[in-house]
Amino acid sequence: MTNTPLPGHPHVHQRDGALHTEGVRLADLAATHGTPLFVYSKAAMLDALAAYQRGFAGRRAQICYAMKANSTLAVLQLFARAGCGFDIVSGGELQRVLAAGGDPAKVIFSGVGKTRAEMRQALDHGIACFNVESAAELDVLDEVARAHGSRARVSIRVNPDVDAKTHPYISTGLKGNKFGVAHDEALALYRHAARLAGLQVVGIDCHIGSQITDASPYLDAMDRVLDLVDAVEAAGIPIAHIDFGGGLGIVYGAPGDDAPPAADGLWQQLLAKLDARGYGDRLLMIEPGRSLVGNAGLCLTEVLYLKPGTQKNFCIVDAAMNDLPRPAMYQAFHQIVPLAPRADAPAVYDVVGPVCESGDWLGRDRKLAVQPGDHLAVLSAGAYCMSMSSNYNTRGRAAEVLVDGQAAHLIRAREDAQAQMRGESLLPG
Ligand SMILES: *Cc1c(COP(=O)(O)O)cnc(C)c1O
Repeated sequence: MTNTPLPGHPHVHQRDGALHTEGVRLADLAATHGTPLFVYSKAAMLDALAAYQRGFAGRRAQICYAMKANSTLAVLQLFARAGCGFDIVSGGELQRVLAAGGDPAKVIFSGVGKTRAEMRQALDHGIACFNVESAAELDVLDEVARAHGSRARVSIRVNPDVDAKTHPYISTGLKGNKFGVAHDEALALYRHAARLAGLQVVGIDCHIGSQITDASPYLDAMDRVLDLVDAVEAAGIPIAHIDFGGGLGIVYGAPGDDAPPAADGLWQQLLAKLDARGYGDRLLMIEPGRSLVGNAGLCLTEVLYLKPGTQKNFCIVDAAMNDLPRPAMYQAFHQIVPLAPRADAPAVYDVVGPVCESGDWLGRDRKLAVQPGDHLAVLSAGAYCMSMSSNYNTRGRAAEVLVDGQAAHLIRAREDAQAQMRGESLLPG
């Protein structure tokens, strides 16, 4: 019996000619639940979290899972039980945290466009902190909190103006970006916030981008943020917590890609800098998303048709851009592997879905030996897939299964057309 883990995916392995997640044969899951089907490994999520927990051993730290990466209730429940707080970006996400049994006192609220209603809702539940992204938002939050009869705990998201060297759509820490407050305006804004009766300054935060594969932008951003902490505290405004955001990348396995640093190794470097600058005993917060769930998930899909062409061969599968939007949105790469490898000679295919868009592709120029009816696994599909999925083409969203050892739990039923039409109404007459 061979048992070969896939590189970068320690909980996905080939055993006896069949691909498994932990102890569960993926072909069995496809047969039971149909495809497209997201499959997550509980152990992979907890291992990814453990790397951060090791990194912060002996420190005062709160890990707030950035739940937009994957906001399925059972996933949130897993992280809540493991002690995580949550970084939310909408009132809807707060409701998900509550439904999953998460602690609102460990919730931080990010995002450039919080509405008054969302602010009130978050104040009602006593969240830990609002990460404020503009001067205008600060004033509105002050007004809402005073009317609410409470004080909103705030952190200002500063834009350290460092280049995270990632895809422009997922780079957030540069000057031309909509996120955060410019470094040279932050001190004045802190002084302003400290004078507002509806606010209580508790922290500072930054988030420089996503799928970052290099430690240096983090180290640069930390220096810039600590320079500001020096200045804000010199102005008599104490900063209780420092939040370094999320953004650590994962291995997607594209040819020539850089491997990101491990979370514990990265934090060793960052903590050394914090210690050297005298901030090692502050309450530290982080907001990782992708790195906690990305490589814990894959998407099973069935090959529907092979369509050979003069310029391209197409492998048409039943998963599409509405299930796996990252290739269409960011030209992102996902590894695609057969569940049961065939001995036949492979051909080169573009793997595409049924959606009526040329942008509906999952992988380009992939060498595959496949036949209609075979199943493929699209790897690294735990983050920014289901949570970004849509009903385009009136396609129901996929089902989701969480594997725990030998057990497989259905955590989201496949969405049918009826569910999609709920809430719609026909014209009268
Ligand atoms: C999206 C986001 C994160 C998480 O980013 P990842 O790349 O998934 O780790 C953290 N903080 C904020 C403010 C975000 O918008």
